[in-house]
Amino acid sequence: VAPVLESTNTEVKKRIANNRDELANGDTVLAEIQTAGRGRHGRTWLAPVGGSLTFSMYWSFPDGYQSMAGLSLLVGVAICDALQKIGVNDAQVKWPNDIYLGNKKLAGILIEVEGQIGATAHCVIGVGLNVHVPVDEYDVGQPHTDLSAALNSETDRNRLAAKIIESLWDHLDGFAHSGFGKYVAIWESLDLFADKKIVLQMGEKRFCGIDRGVDASGALLVETEDGITRFHGGEVSLRGY
Ligand code: ATP
Repeated sequence: VAPVLESTNTEVKKRIANNRDELANGDTVLAEIQTAGRGRHGRTWLAPVGGSLTFSMYWSFPDGYQSMAGLSLLVGVAICDALQKIGVNDAQVKWPNDIYLGNKKLAGILIEVEGQIGATAHCVIGVGLNVHVPVDEYDVGQPHTDLSAALNSETDRNRLAAKIIESLWDHLDGFAHSGFGKYVAIWESLDLFADKKIVLQMGEKRFCGIDRGVDASGALLVETEDGITRFHGGEVSLRGY
């Protein structure tokens, strides 16, 4: 645990580069303040002091990239599972890497892969979750919510961190053994846009269709008049219609 870090993901990436042999699956760095919290594609993650849970977990996949397919979706399932255990039953996932509550963003997930030596993929799983980020005080650039709005009691961030880390650990163990396939149904039951019209943005290109869930590799299945098209994470951003 550190009071101030540039970014917890960056810290774990540094440790992978410098002290990889000392890292074990599940090792986690937490920070009270991030001076340069990141989202995907260089976007900024805003986390006020004391109001958020920001951490990054290390996990290695000896069989490389292909055994990580669906990882960001699996992390979403693990976080929703932990939230249910503290009484937040209606959190949802937005493909590929966000957690929503009441149609507003509650948490973001940022997966980065570092130093692929031989076949092993060294992963950093970053999570930023709003605990107390009041909407009238913070403009994060899109509608957001926090756990204070969902729970009557104040959230103990230590307990929350323990629950989420434990849930991640359990789910990652299962995922590392058998892949994302056995989590598809649960992910789909949590899907914010299940069977709804969606727009996918890829740079300047847009693609419209109906969200029909995901496959065992975590690809999004989008239905159009021409049938089902599969989309993989990477450069794709999903929005409601
Ligand atoms: P995508 O669908 O491509 O993931 P995104 O807008 O969710 O798009 P991310 O990279 O996942 O992008 O997250 C970064 C974005 O999240 C920022 O650009 C900002 O709009 C938003 N954001 C930043 N801080 C917070 C926060 N504390 N709570 C909710 N949303 C935030």
